[in-house]
Amino acid sequence: MSYPNTYYAETTTGKDDFQALAENLEVDTCIIGGGYAGLSTALGLVERGHKSVALIDAEGIGFGCSGRNGGFAFGGYSLHEHGLIKSVGKEKARELYHYTTEGIELIRQRIKKYKIDCEAVWDGVLMCNWFKDESILKKHQRFMADSFGVEQDYIEPEQLREIVKSDQYNGALVEKNAFHFHPLKYALGLASEASKQGAQLFSNTPATRIEADGPTKLVHTPNGTIKARQIVICCGGYLNGLYKPLARASLPIATYVMVTEPLGEQRDEAFTCQHAIYDTRFAFDYYRPLLDGRIMWGGRVSVGLNQPENLDQILLGDLLKVYPQLEGIKVDFAWQGWMSWSAHRMPQIGQERPGVWFGQAYGGHGVAATNITGDMIAAAIAEGDDRYRNLGDRFRLTSTFGPLGKIGAEATYRYYMLRDRMKE
Ligand SMILES: Cc1cc2nc3c(=O)[nH]c(=O)nc-3n(C[C@H](O)[C@H](O)[C@H](O)COP(=O)(O)OP(=O)(O)OC[C@H]3O[C@@H](n4cnc5c(N)ncnc54)[C@H](O)[C@@H]3O)c2cc1C
Repeated sequence: MSYPNTYYAETTTGKDDFQALAENLEVDTCIIGGGYAGLSTALGLVERGHKSVALIDAEGIGFGCSGRNGGFAFGGYSLHEHGLIKSVGKEKARELYHYTTEGIELIRQRIKKYKIDCEAVWDGVLMCNWFKDESILKKHQRFMADSFGVEQDYIEPEQLREIVKSDQYNGALVEKNAFHFHPLKYALGLASEASKQGAQLFSNTPATRIEADGPTKLVHTPNGTIKARQIVICCGGYLNGLYKPLARASLPIATYVMVTEPLGEQRDEAFTCQHAIYDTRFAFDYYRPLLDGRIMWGGRVSVGLNQPENLDQILLGDLLKVYPQLEGIKVDFAWQGWMSWSAHRMPQIGQERPGVWFGQAYGGHGVAATNITGDMIAAAIAEGDDRYRNLGDRFRLTSTFGPLGKIGAEATYRYYMLRDRMKE
């Protein structure tokens, strides 16, 4: 099975045992893509008694973002809460925001119910204030409580410095129901449970072409064709032009992660809490303690094709800016992943035509959203539930304008970085 050289792949024994599809197959529902969106759809279907399900992945289960992300299960979308209200109004924004808190709860319940061993740390997530202006967090705390009914605890700067020993931050908010986990182990846990409950999963099975015009859909793969009444396309930033209406509406954007060597007690010189941590900038750092004494550190985005050669040093530089006391530590792993982005920065879910479902464009905030929307698509297919339309009908497959869109995305990123620097 081909997995990238990540800390997560290195620390997961067994990876996936699923075989490649070797013959033609007929099922009710064929899911393309074994990330959280596809896996949650598959599990949601079999949990509802809809057992005629096949899921294929071009590589291994969790090969894409879902097996290599920061492991933050937190609320919200890539579109910031203020933007969400601007787009759909206060009442609808509140409802859509709470899809993601429902997503966090769904993940928590599945980890517990199916005993998925994925190193979950339930302590919550800290959003640390990067800027000098101490009022930022208090304002945000009030805004989240008033607009979304989300209560976050405020930590004063001096109090924060006892557990997060950086002069960079000015206080923090705690998102209490959020948590962090080993993303690849969780993806494989979902896959294993879906398989136990009757779904057929295939790795190393790329969909090479889709025929979607008639009532029966055909998904071609190198060694067999799958006939299905419904297909669900969940290929994220790895879609690579497979299905034009989806490709036109999304952009692959890279983001990066590194993992340090095991630091043991030296890590306490930086922070002693078990929370996952990010900050208040648009292009924030995100990091968390790993169980074996390392730090996982992520940040930055790019539309560039190639992983920077000195990625480990770039990310280490970001870490040392926050924790100069860790000068001299080494990096053991560094990698990139392709997120899928839409022009409106919200997920795209729904039915492109009868029987062709999709879930994509979760951006950098996809752990909770993929899990809940995958389950909504499952409810739609198995039970005719149309709750997915609340999100899907508002955030459609609008064009990202191909290469122009990439230039626009890079420019937007740079603009926000500049704005954050000016604020600094
Ligand atoms: C480095 C990084 C850090 C991140 N950190 C966080 C975080 O901490 N918290 C958070 O909420 N979000 C985070 N995200 C975003 C989050 O991981 C994604 O939004 C989410 O995992 C997307 O899931 P997905 O199922 O849509 O796509 P993916 O997980 O990317 O899965 C798509 C799958 O489709 C398969 N595929 C593609 N083409 C084909 C084909 N033709 N045939 C068959 N299979 C195919 C791929 O092999 C892949 O496995 C991060 C992303 C990255 C890259």
